[in-house]
Amino acid sequence: MANKYRLLLFFVLLQQVSWAGGIKVGTGRVSITPELPFYLSGYAVRTTPAVTKVHDLWAKALVIEENTSSRIVIITTDVLGLTSAITETVVDRAQKKYGIARSQIVFNASHTHSGPMIWPALSIIGEYDAATIQVFTRYTMDLTDKLMQAIDMAMQSLVPMTLSYGNGTAGFAANRRQFTAKGVANGVNPTGAVDHDVPVLAAKDAEGKVKAILFGYACHNTTVTSNSNIVNGDYAGFAQIELEKMFPEATALFFTGCAGDQNPIPRGTLELAEKYGKELAGAVQVVLAGKTEPVGAPLRSAYTTTKLDFEPVNREAMEKELLDSSRFKQRRARLVTEAYNRGWDMSTHPYPVQAVRIGNKLTLLALSGETVVDYSLKAKKAFSSERLFVAGYCNEVVCYIPTQKVQAEGGYEAVENMIYYGMPGPFKKNVEDKVFAAINTVMQQIGVRKK
Ligand SMILES: [Zn+2]
Repeated sequence: MANKYRLLLFFVLLQQVSWAGGIKVGTGRVSITPELPFYLSGYAVRTTPAVTKVHDLWAKALVIEENTSSRIVIITTDVLGLTSAITETVVDRAQKKYGIARSQIVFNASHTHSGPMIWPALSIIGEYDAATIQVFTRYTMDLTDKLMQAIDMAMQSLVPMTLSYGNGTAGFAANRRQFTAKGVANGVNPTGAVDHDVPVLAAKDAEGKVKAILFGYACHNTTVTSNSNIVNGDYAGFAQIELEKMFPEATALFFTGCAGDQNPIPRGTLELAEKYGKELAGAVQVVLAGKTEPVGAPLRSAYTTTKLDFEPVNREAMEKELLDSSRFKQRRARLVTEAYNRGWDMSTHPYPVQAVRIGNKLTLLALSGETVVDYSLKAKKAFSSERLFVAGYCNEVVCYIPTQKVQAEGGYEAVENMIYYGMPGPFKKNVEDKVFAAINTVMQQIGVRKK
């Protein structure tokens, strides 16, 4: 008997030794499918609410814990974009409940154009009555609670795990900035910049079973176009479902890369969204079947906010736009002139930049807004000695974030998007410099050197 106990003790100690300096991982998920009928966000031409769904939408949480003061929380959501009102409320609650610092919690939106209206983001795209706005407001408040519930679930399920990462590739994203005689149009640019990386981070339990898969891709979730009005997560929704079929014990979490100027091509049907979802899941499966790099403690994180400058509001032009033939321009002009008349600052917008580092070679750089693909390509080049996962659509999505090149070229990502987002816009020429200064700041704080 004594020997038996000694053997048992040996294995217990062995396990403790193998987890010393290791990490724990937990996951949580909460359905965020709206009660139907519900208006979808993303396409201005939809004028009726969705009445059916293809599949559920989810908020998912991944918690990686080194110890109770060193954690990383990643929350992914099947929605067009989150607002700072939502994310900062959740941060506040997570700080109070678990002592999680602002820098330790990253939110990402899949940017599905078949998800619910997140009020008041993109309120300009439709004319809604008071009762509908009340429903939107209720959904937004409930969403805040649900994000917290996902964190609670993940915190409660923390167990020792091993993490590993790798990189795959998928080719369905295309640059959509097509140069025409009339300027840059929303089409296809076969020679334009793309980022076809499929970054993958997986967590396995002590038995080697895959329990969590975090994966990303830099492409708009716009395979399903405005001719459809059915709730679904587009290719990212299908990819997560497919991965959870392949790995039945896993929670699959999708994050959007710098997809501002990237569309799936061709597009237009649910079948294509499912096809791309399977293609992306297949790319992740290939990574997990191959050689992945182990990674673990220490965990580090940094968060900063810079200010992006708008060109000065042209009051005369805005007053004219109040009577413009475009109802979108009218609504934007109303918002901007009202803000101006109330004395609100219309010269800058706060822009959060965040980075979380797992071990000494893997960093998730989390950028806010609809960052165009050059941000990702440039960051990976600037920090080439680090394995960089670059996410856009993090924390809050208030408009597109163009690079200097895109600004100079013009088009939707540089100028017109500001109308739909209700921003005075466009940005001043220094946007890219400001974003990269903030990137350098957070990278330095977590010990990632430029190379
Ligand atoms: Zn977009």
